Amino acid sequence: MAVGKAMDWREGLDAGDLSSEVLVRASFERMRSLDGQLHAILAMDEDRSLRLAREADTRLRGGERSPMLGLPVVLKDNLHWSGLQVSCGSRIMNGYRAPYDATVVERLVAAGAVPVAKANLDEFAMGSSGEYSAFGPARNPWDTTRVPGGSSSGSVVAVSAGYAPLALGSDTGGSVRLPASFCNVTALRPTYGVLSRYGLTAMASSLDQVGPIGTSAADISLALGVMAGRDPMDSTSADLPGMERLAPLCPRNLKGLRIGLPREYFGEGLEPGVRSLLETALQVFTNQGAEIREVSLPHTRYAIDTYYLLCTSEVSSNLSRFDGIRYGHRAEAGSLPELIAETRNQGLGAEVKRRILLGAFCLSKGYYDAFYSKALKARTLIARDFDTVFKTVDVLATPVSPDTAFPFGAKTDDPLAMYLADAFTVTAPLAGIPCLSMPAGFTAGLPVGIQLIGPAFSDVMLLETAHAFQSLTRHHLDTPPISA
Ligand code: GLN
Repeated sequence: MAVGKAMDWREGLDAGDLSSEVLVRASFERMRSLDGQLHAILAMDEDRSLRLAREADTRLRGGERSPMLGLPVVLKDNLHWSGLQVSCGSRIMNGYRAPYDATVVERLVAAGAVPVAKANLDEFAMGSSGEYSAFGPARNPWDTTRVPGGSSSGSVVAVSAGYAPLALGSDTGGSVRLPASFCNVTALRPTYGVLSRYGLTAMASSLDQVGPIGTSAADISLALGVMAGRDPMDSTSADLPGMERLAPLCPRNLKGLRIGLPREYFGEGLEPGVRSLLETALQVFTNQGAEIREVSLPHTRYAIDTYYLLCTSEVSSNLSRFDGIRYGHRAEAGSLPELIAETRNQGLGAEVKRRILLGAFCLSKGYYDAFYSKALKARTLIARDFDTVFKTVDVLATPVSPDTAFPFGAKTDDPLAMYLADAFTVTAPLAGIPCLSMPAGFTAGLPVGIQLIGPAFSDVMLLETAHAFQSLTRHHLDTPPISA
């Protein structure tokens, strides 16, 4: 049985027709039957999950009603859930166990949600396909010869294949939205700060955000509502306005909604099948009275360069903590400098090493002004583009990716081609603003997502807009043709 659709299970749990234990067992069953093919899962602790499920059942029987109570969730394996591994998809973390819970995990568990597994990912969340996991890639349930997208590959596959109704990923430059669009699920990257980063292994701290993944915007809202808001452990965290509108989420009235289409996202290189699905999706909005306006975000063409300069710079600094002393793997060596060098050499994969080198170079004396400091200025210009357009439109609609899921190996020999897969997803993170990906239909049998971007702290409005779309369409209800 696929354990999809949180809202359906919510009703069953609240009505007493279903128990969390039954649901969690079904989730394990689903993983056992399919994960040999899909490889989305890296670790589980069944006893602990079942214990949490029984606790949730006790709370339900006691009359407690709460959006996440009893629902299974899958966690990307760069989030800390105490006692379990946090592999980050890397060999260098071998043997490391989380000594504490990430704030988002702690809040989910306190709300009665049941983590059921830790999910596969690109090493340290660096990648767009899932292929940079040190433990082998997850596979796309719609076509197992293709990538699921990354870096939150396993989390997205887990939802798409019905392992659990909800999952958490992380999104630094597109890592929940790109795989969501490749696998026909819905994923939100909240406004920077809305979800605490405490206990999320840092990649590029000024860009990292946790992102909920589910079948629909309504489902995601259940999880967002119990996790969002200020956390004393993360000084960049912030409260989310309108949180009380998340459960249950109501569809936004689309009449008069001003939707901007940024010209720069609809140029050459957009696959015709993707373009035509986006046009059809936009008609769903205009049929309800939304207005479409063409807008321009002129600094978009600097986004990939800006993102990869800032991201690698922050990566080079953040990953210096993996030195063989404090975490996981430790190489045999004669001296301390050798131990550090050898541990990193053995423990880190090629893409991570490439980014550390690039980032260290960007930050080095003599090059700092030319690269890092210039990229910071470009970031400001990109953010200002968004400020300007949000004076005349309420949301932006764009493709998530120029194309559908690609075959394994298509971009692994060409790092630049892999980086370009992120052309439409890195801009909003640079501006810190919320964005989501939701299913828009299929071309040649493969899912296509549409991205909505809103002004800072418009997360709830974005979800309400997506919910309105999903109340009028059925793409998000299609499930992949996968069986045991
Ligand atoms: N694909 C982008 C990168 O490799 C984004 C990764 C992410 O969002 N974690 O940096």
